Amino acid sequence: MSKESETVAVAKKEFLAHGVPITSKRVNLFSILLASQKALSAYELADLYHEVFAAPIPAITVYRVLEFLQDKDLVHKLDTANKFVACSQFDCKHTHPASQFLICNQCLKVKELGMSGAKFEELKQTINQAGFHLDTQQLEMNCICTDCHVGMTN
Ligand SMILES: [Zn+2]
Ligand SMILES: [Zn+2]
Repeated sequence: MSKESETVAVAKKEFLAHGVPITSKRVNLFSILLASQKALSAYELADLYHEVFAAPIPAITVYRVLEFLQDKDLVHKLDTANKFVACSQFDCKHTHPASQFLICNQCLKVKELGMSGAKFEELKQTINQAGFHLDTQQLEMNCICTDCHVGMTN
């Protein structure tokens, strides 16, 4: 099986596990995100879709599909970058109390780390004590990945 059809198969499996009705647009878009190590904007996704599946897709459709998959916790939006990533935590079936995203500011590679509910509550309390209310369910950290870091010191 090629890498491409492999990710399509994974996408279908996850949709079934999450009770997401399978449509080719949803499966194809999700498989592109799964195959990408980087966060992608809706327009980048539309371009890749056209390239990989040889069919054009309007950005508005991409947004609609992404919104739907976000509701199912299969896709996350990185607010600071305004880009999207496939959830990397869906195998453990956790309920997603919170996620931390490590985002390389050089190559835009993204890694999602789960965060325990207790830890997240603690953070919220600290913020409340400072007179603020946390307005997000996810933390986005500006990072440099190891690969880019090595490249920089050479
Ligand atoms: Zn996730
Ligand atoms: Zn990097």
